[in-house]
Amino acid sequence: MSTNSTAIPTIAALQGKRIAVLGYGSQGRAHALNLCDSGLDVVVGLRPNGPTSKKAEEDGLRVLTPADAVRDADLIAVLTPDMVQPALYRDAIAPNIKPGAALLFAHGFNVHFKQIDARKDIDVILVAPKGPGALVRREYEIGRGVPCLFAVHQDATGHAEEKAKAYAAGIGGARAMLIATDFKEETETDLFGEQAVLCGGASELVIAGFETLVEAGYQPEIAYYEVMHELKLIVDLFYEGGITRMLEFVSETAQYGDYVSGPRIVDAATKARMKAVLTDIQDGTFAKNWTAEYQAGLPNYKKFKQADLDHPIEVVGKALRARMPWLNAAAKPSDAAAP
Ligand code: NAD
Ligand code: MG
Ligand code: MG
Ligand code: MG
Ligand code: MG
Repeated sequence: MSTNSTAIPTIAALQGKRIAVLGYGSQGRAHALNLCDSGLDVVVGLRPNGPTSKKAEEDGLRVLTPADAVRDADLIAVLTPDMVQPALYRDAIAPNIKPGAALLFAHGFNVHFKQIDARKDIDVILVAPKGPGALVRREYEIGRGVPCLFAVHQDATGHAEEKAKAYAAGIGGARAMLIATDFKEETETDLFGEQAVLCGGASELVIAGFETLVEAGYQPEIAYYEVMHELKLIVDLFYEGGITRMLEFVSETAQYGDYVSGPRIVDAATKARMKAVLTDIQDGTFAKNWTAEYQAGLPNYKKFKQADLDHPIEVVGKALRARMPWLNAAAKPSDAAAP
């Protein structure tokens, strides 16, 4: 792992170089526009007539096919969904990338789990903003930035780290903070966070709480408010000031209940199962299963997703949210959490 240097990185290492951003979704759009506004030479690589190519053109960016975008680029940012990256690398990147160019990822999955074995004559780097694309763009526009992780997997030119830091500067991250990491740490912690706590853990906790109240005879509408809707207030307090701020803002009764009942819900057995989830991530079991599931056409993924969408908490939630018009103005999907 490289050291966290104190000097604020600049875009100098990428000045006058061509950057190809492949993908124009949550991260791709934010990176391309920020790099462009930082004065760098940016093209976007997308499938012709793909769902986002019109948007990139409307934003004033030059859109090419992925292969054409790669051909003249000095840095290629791979910002498509993780599961399409191996084929994209094989078909559009590997045959066209210039020797000495850099291949950049925002998540280390494919490199760390060897789904992409990059050519030895290129740099392989990572810059992962710790926030969704909409925030990366918004903060940049007001003159700030979202902290970024950065890492080097392969340094063919001797300048890989400089390029990663310059890219992080170009998207605004260096205005906030850059944290040095490696592909293994970024990949494993990102997967663990989304599985155990953010997406998997939080949604199962909410659903179990909802079912407990409804099975005990309470109204589903009231259960929904108590365990789903109000979670936002608590998470906002965590986000702004950690557990300290949450404890400052909730009642003494809520605090006492937290202290005595929280550890009965999440206990040593929960933590042991978290460690088992982490082991599956670390030893490649999760990556192997997910890759096989994707290649099989997502049969289980689709079933699991439909079951979540059909759950009674979603039925009651939809009806209640329709009566809270202020929610319509809230986050679009692209504003949603980063995992
Ligand atoms: P996304 O799903 O929002 O957007 C994907 C983009 O890729 C779209 O423009 C889509 O049209 C395009 N695309 C799909 N298939 C393509 C193909 N075959 N060729 C060219 N373009 C194609 O993706 P995202 O959430 O921005 O994720 C991109 C990367 O960033 C991933 O590696 C992800 O893990 C990482 N990441 C995402 C976030 C986040 O907030 N969403 C945060 C940190 C890291
Ligand atoms: Mg679930
Ligand atoms: Mg309450
Ligand atoms: Mg994440
Ligand atoms: Mg993730």
